[in-house]
Amino acid sequence: MSGNGGHKHSHSENELRAEALEAVLTEKGIVTAEAIEAVIRLFEEDIGPMNGARVVARAWTDPAFRARLLDDATTAVGEIEMVMILEAPLVVVPNEPGVHNVVVCTLCSCYPSGLLGISPSWYKDPAYRSRVVREPRNVLSEMGLELEPGWEVRVWDSSAELRYMVLPERPPGCDDWSAERLAALVTRDSMIGTGRPRLPSEI
Ligand code: FE
Repeated sequence: MSGNGGHKHSHSENELRAEALEAVLTEKGIVTAEAIEAVIRLFEEDIGPMNGARVVARAWTDPAFRARLLDDATTAVGEIEMVMILEAPLVVVPNEPGVHNVVVCTLCSCYPSGLLGISPSWYKDPAYRSRVVREPRNVLSEMGLELEPGWEVRVWDSSAELRYMVLPERPPGCDDWSAERLAALVTRDSMIGTGRPRLPSEI
């Protein structure tokens, strides 16, 4: 884990500006708070994580890419055509039968934004950051993810110098799907490790 040195964030001022802008726009009746919420949710859950979803779908369909991704994710993601800036070196950790991975930033809120977009508010919550390390099973269960009793849970602590992303397991029932189609199954939470990909029957 990194020390406090170099663990700086520049988004505070932008957050304040965004809040001020939102206040003015809603006060003047130009946009509703609901409309703003809907746009934020879209960026958090759908548009933001699309790059990560394409990386996962490629790994599901291309074993050689999967091997390169797990060996050196920072380089391997460069093979995927997308508009993306990695803010720090990336490590991708694969879920497999018996092993589940989950990502946190215990110190603040470091997040692979280039792949997953805007981080959800719970990711920045001190409760998530401290509890997922001490009692990951309970936290995951509260978030709707029940793990088999004997499974090992690995918690990865992100920092300004290194970001983690989970490679979830490919769901059953989509063996003949293209990478493009598979990407729709990959949820943001499945790449943080607090959820699973959608099932083919769920889209
Ligand atoms: Fe952080």
